[in-house]
Amino acid sequence: MQNPRLFDLAVVGAGIIGLSCALAAARLGKRVLVVDRDTQANGASVRNFGFVTVTGQERGPTWDLARRTREVWAEIAEEARVAIHHRGLLMSVRRQESVAVLEAFLRTEMGADCQMLTPGDLLRRQPELAGPGTLAALWSPHELRVESREAISLIAAWLEARHGVTFWRGTAVLAVETSRITTTRGEVEAEAIAVCPGDDLTSLLPAPIAAHRVTRCKLQMLRLADPGFRLSAGVMSDLGLDRYAGYAALPEAAALRRRLEAEQPRHLEHGVHLIAVQSADGSLVVGDSHHYGATPDPFAHEAVDRLILDEFETVFGRPAPSVVERWTGTYATAPGRTVLVECPQPGVRLVMVTTGAGASIGFALGEAVAADLFRGSEL
Ligand SMILES: Cc1cc2nc3c(=O)[nH]c(=O)nc-3n(C[C@H](O)[C@H](O)[C@H](O)COP(=O)(O)OP(=O)(O)OC[C@H]3O[C@@H](n4cnc5c(N)ncnc54)[C@H](O)[C@@H]3O)c2cc1C
Repeated sequence: MQNPRLFDLAVVGAGIIGLSCALAAARLGKRVLVVDRDTQANGASVRNFGFVTVTGQERGPTWDLARRTREVWAEIAEEARVAIHHRGLLMSVRRQESVAVLEAFLRTEMGADCQMLTPGDLLRRQPELAGPGTLAALWSPHELRVESREAISLIAAWLEARHGVTFWRGTAVLAVETSRITTTRGEVEAEAIAVCPGDDLTSLLPAPIAAHRVTRCKLQMLRLADPGFRLSAGVMSDLGLDRYAGYAALPEAAALRRRLEAEQPRHLEHGVHLIAVQSADGSLVVGDSHHYGATPDPFAHEAVDRLILDEFETVFGRPAPSVVERWTGTYATAPGRTVLVECPQPGVRLVMVTTGAGASIGFALGEAVAADLFRGSEL
């Protein structure tokens, strides 16, 4: 009989990043334990849009991680019974400066398979976006949308059933050292350890986290009642071109930034941009805002929700449906980096996504971490 306290990989954290490391190691035939202090997923991974975004991710390694992660979502969705609610992205814009950014984007390698749509095209594809203010839209076929609050538990259950991954829930990890973790259920031995703590910056490995000046970002989110139409894709707007590095780093984005500063300063002040995606019952998940700090307040401020709804109403050209749910979420963030992978001790890796993209780049990151731990590949 196998020793129930001996594993090839012990993963701390059952969010999307911990599950990604667990999946990649299990696919290498490894015996995996995942430990989480919560009895069910409760962190950023279940508070997000479930929008697996490729187009707009930072050019280079992050974009590559996103493309591979999207492939893994598509590979596992059916087997893990994760529903894909819609595919693709419509980036609807109402300023000439935004059109210039989209045209420049389409000239890069990141624009492959994407397309510029006219208002006439939109009228056929998503008429709600074809209002008089709309100049154009970028269509990207790459995105997927899942319902994270269901998907995370479905993936965990599938990892358990299909890949034999062991889960210890309601169990905090108190200490980590080479080949051993100490938990509230006693000690476990493991050849390798992946610490995926989300935005817990102090419980485990605080020194490397502090060294990289990791802090938190708080977001406000809304669920709106079924608007009576169906979205064929996730929707974003001009403000997204300023937030997502894949567009914002293009030289053409500077003129758009100046115009947004003049026209939507309060949206910029609160980091508000628009993402709207739809759920199986027709309701819309709409957000979001960005406020930074080591311990952001946990409150959803009405004035910030109003800014999100204001952008929704402008883009869709109609009053927003009633709000049926409000919540906040936080993720880890660090200046100038998308991911933080550190090796504080032999066989131990700290794995954090330090921007709002864990659902979009997590699976590929997990593969890189597993290859590094078990095959000695360079990260
Ligand atoms: C509102 C919001 C919207 C977002 N939208 C998107 C989106 O649409 N697309 C996208 O790609 N990304 C999005 N993101 C970002 C994405 O959700 C995160 O990057 C991702 O969920 C981080 O995953 P994680 O596993 O690192 O963290 P988490 O989901 O927070 O999981 C970390 C887990 O570690 C556990 N843990 C920590 N310390 C310990 C310990 N000592 N012992 C035991 N357990 C421990 C916690 O209990 C927790 O369950 C969004 C984030 C937010 C907040």
